[in-house]
Amino acid sequence: MLRFDIITIFPGVFSSVLDESIMKRAQEKKKVVFKVHDLRHYTKDPHRKVDDRPFGGGPGMVMTPQPLVGAVKKIKGRRKVKVIYMCPGGTRLTQKKAKELAQEKNIILICGHYEGIDERVREMVVDESLSIGDYVLTGGELPAMVVVDTVTRLIPGVLGKEDSLLDESFEQDLLEYPQYTRPADFCGNKVPAVLLSGNHLAVKKWRMAQAHARTIKFRPDLLKK
Ligand code: SAM
Repeated sequence: MLRFDIITIFPGVFSSVLDESIMKRAQEKKKVVFKVHDLRHYTKDPHRKVDDRPFGGGPGMVMTPQPLVGAVKKIKGRRKVKVIYMCPGGTRLTQKKAKELAQEKNIILICGHYEGIDERVREMVVDESLSIGDYVLTGGELPAMVVVDTVTRLIPGVLGKEDSLLDESFEQDLLEYPQYTRPADFCGNKVPAVLLSGNHLAVKKWRMAQAHARTIKFRPDLLKK
């Protein structure tokens, strides 16, 4: 079982994702546990402040080290835990990285806000920083949900059909082939005949060719790898 502890100043935003659909079923199947922690419970500031002005000047606020370091240490206890800070400047999250994380037993995700976190938090308690892409969001909550979702669905037993993972985009550095379902003719647009042929080998070859063609068209960088 993989346990995620998420540290945030907006604990309320997580239930819409974690208590629905596959994330909900993963918890029911005891494949994963999600614990969401309100950072303000860990601050020693009498006004429950968790941010302050940046030394050296500049716009915005910075998250102070005490509540974050305190929260990580308390939540971690004696367990072996991977501590990840969600950060636009972190290592890019990929399917490969998600597979690695799916092997972990305990992950703490830190959601930043404002201008980010005091650098000493990274030095003291963070093992790794992860980015979900080259753009800046207002907070780390959506990035943390992206990590939780993409990692959880890779845990064996979470998805009904594990085979569905094998042909997915980014497996073998390819995008997935086009998918079709009923009806076979939709407003005159027909499903490729090979998919109705019942010839499994021909279907397999067609899909592989389509996956290559799509990857060359939309993500040639994957093939260059
Ligand atoms: N000043 C920071 C910078 O320039 O790198 C941006 C801070 S951002 C407004 C606030 C928080 O959102 C970050 O601390 C981080 O937790 C989260 N965040 C924003 N964009 C992200 C991304 N692409 N990937 C992961 N986390 C992100």
